[in-house]
Amino acid sequence: MRDFTPTLRELFGFASFRPGQEELVRRAMAGRDCLAVLPTGSGKSLGYQLPAMLLERPTLVVSPLIALMRDQVAHMPPGLRERAAFVNSTVEAGEAAAHMHGLAAGRIKLLYAAPERLRQARFAEALRAARIGMVVVDEAHCVALWGHDFRPDYLFIRSVLGGPLREASVMALTATATPETATEIGRGLGRELEVLRASVVRENLRYDVVQAGNEEGRLRHVLERVPGRAGPGIIYVRARERCERVAELLRRRGVAVAPYHALLDRALRAETQERFLAGDLRVVVATTAFGMGVDKPDIRWVLLYNYPTSIEEYVQQVGRAGRDGRPSTCTLLATAGDGANLRAFARRDAPTVHELRQVWAALRAAGGEDVAVTPDELRAAAEIPEERDPRVHCGLLERAGLVERHFDAGPAMRLTLLPPPADAAERVAALVGRLEAAARARCEAMLAFAATARCRHQQVAHHFGDSLVPPCGRCDVCAPLREAAPAAAPRPKAPPLPADPARVIVEAVASLRWPLGVRGLVALLRGSVAASPSAQRHPAFGAFAASSDATVGRWVAELLATGHLVRMEGEGGYPVLAVARRDGLPELAAPPARGRGPRTEAVRAPAPALDAAAEARFAALRAWRAEAAKAAGLPAYMILHDSTLREIAADPPPDLPGLARRRGMGPRKIEAWGQDLLTVLAANRP
Ligand code: ADP
Ligand code: MG
Repeated sequence: MRDFTPTLRELFGFASFRPGQEELVRRAMAGRDCLAVLPTGSGKSLGYQLPAMLLERPTLVVSPLIALMRDQVAHMPPGLRERAAFVNSTVEAGEAAAHMHGLAAGRIKLLYAAPERLRQARFAEALRAARIGMVVVDEAHCVALWGHDFRPDYLFIRSVLGGPLREASVMALTATATPETATEIGRGLGRELEVLRASVVRENLRYDVVQAGNEEGRLRHVLERVPGRAGPGIIYVRARERCERVAELLRRRGVAVAPYHALLDRALRAETQERFLAGDLRVVVATTAFGMGVDKPDIRWVLLYNYPTSIEEYVQQVGRAGRDGRPSTCTLLATAGDGANLRAFARRDAPTVHELRQVWAALRAAGGEDVAVTPDELRAAAEIPEERDPRVHCGLLERAGLVERHFDAGPAMRLTLLPPPADAAERVAALVGRLEAAARARCEAMLAFAATARCRHQQVAHHFGDSLVPPCGRCDVCAPLREAAPAAAPRPKAPPLPADPARVIVEAVASLRWPLGVRGLVALLRGSVAASPSAQRHPAFGAFAASSDATVGRWVAELLATGHLVRMEGEGGYPVLAVARRDGLPELAAPPARGRGPRTEAVRAPAPALDAAAEARFAALRAWRAEAAKAAGLPAYMILHDSTLREIAADPPPDLPGLARRRGMGPRKIEAWGQDLLTVLAANRP
């Protein structure tokens, strides 16, 4: 058998192969179609990079991580770098053409491309002409329609593998695939794949689930534990705003920390990543966007502030710890309320039957069997909400046998409408049902993982069809932490709520030694660990501990709207609160109890039916929101949700206090958009 170790040393400068790598190299050299399920950081790239240099024909790598391609190529050993290139939306046409020439001429052996590029007939044709010998599908789980990270462009890889690149062998790579997902990947790529699977058990990682009680408990855990924790770490937080907030609170406690999420400026994100890699930042507080492909071997801990949406995502996130093999800790903060949030969040992702009908109708309205439409045009015509991708809808219609999607024409998708089968409606309903069930099952599996007192490593192993006999000695079930858990320590009992909240709030603001903004005031009144040290000494600290952040925030918003409180510019330009008048204070009432999980209910509440006038107001509000979103550089749903606009349209409030009482209208939204909304409503009076 050929020994590839000398090549490994010569090309990469590594002494020996890591588990699985040599096997991958052999399969690639033999041209065998395979799927490797190997953990993050195990060195999957080398499994195709090495054979790519030895094979006679060039290799194509399909990867969804566009932002990382440049980095990946830049960090290759010189011998590889000069024979590798990438083409994606960040590469200019001239440069891309030069790479395609290099590929045809044999100068380039390794070409990285984004999956959507395969939708361009000319690109696929150039690949055929260059006689691509091997197609690597990185993050191959993205092909699974029922999976946690489906990407519609992955569906088309199959057409290319069955057409222009029929002769190429396939190497699919992923860090997370259950046996069912592995089967689905083979089906999705249209090839029979030999599966190469490593154990998912990470010997050097400790898995802890900490019952944090509620949001305040989570924050307490982070603020009490993170400053003293050794080594670099990542905190994953689901919402962008929370992400910034947690980073800010840690920064105030002297931690070298920065937030990282998709809405931050690209240059700033790159800088944060650089500083983290260089050890200049010890902690990054991030949404899921961070860490994919970030190659930092010495991350000592990962803290999950919210539940991930699936065990797959859990494994990906915690898997960023301890790539150097040294002991590292992975902590999941569990709270009952977040479970409800997760369920709502999971449901939000799946397209609805209604949307699919609208997409189908929009395509039909275009006239003719063959339709060319850009995703944006289709989104507008079918009124697909911003948080979803109309290309996914097309993928589903294709799966239901209603359309066939071809190579793109420029930015436009080209689709052929097929004669609808008699049971089209049932098929679509069944597909959506299955998608929803899959999303639900993923999220229930995640919740069960945290709620069950069974070895955490064993639970993960089982999920991926692997086995492990407890005790593992490395989780909170098999080896409970001995240190006292302040997060779970009994909290002092909350005092009863004051009878006149408005007066308490106004007096608190009047007696502040350091002025506060809305958020600081709410933290003070709620007795939060997030309150500033001087706020923690204020007599009203914790006066509303028995209420909720949302309610107290709404009360403050109401007092702003009635003009009892005003905003002024504080030091450094930050808005702070001041008392404007004390007479005629309104009676502030707690919102009616909505039972368990108010947020879930909010999501579940059926949209009110709108009459014609209300529909017109709703349309006007949406048009306004589109403008506002553009001006603010935010996605529209971050300005206000459709459900909020719909409710406002159905029953327009007369003034700011009325608006402030509406669901979804927090103090910050009132401040930012309240006046605008009233203006739009006034212009559309019945
Ligand atoms: P994956 O794609 O599986 O997450 P990568 O291919 O990005 O992992 O590799 C992770 C890191 O491991 C890279 O820094 C790579 O240089 C390093 N690495 C890969 N193979 C070896 C090896 N045989 N010896 C030492 N380091 C290796
Ligand atoms: Mg990789």
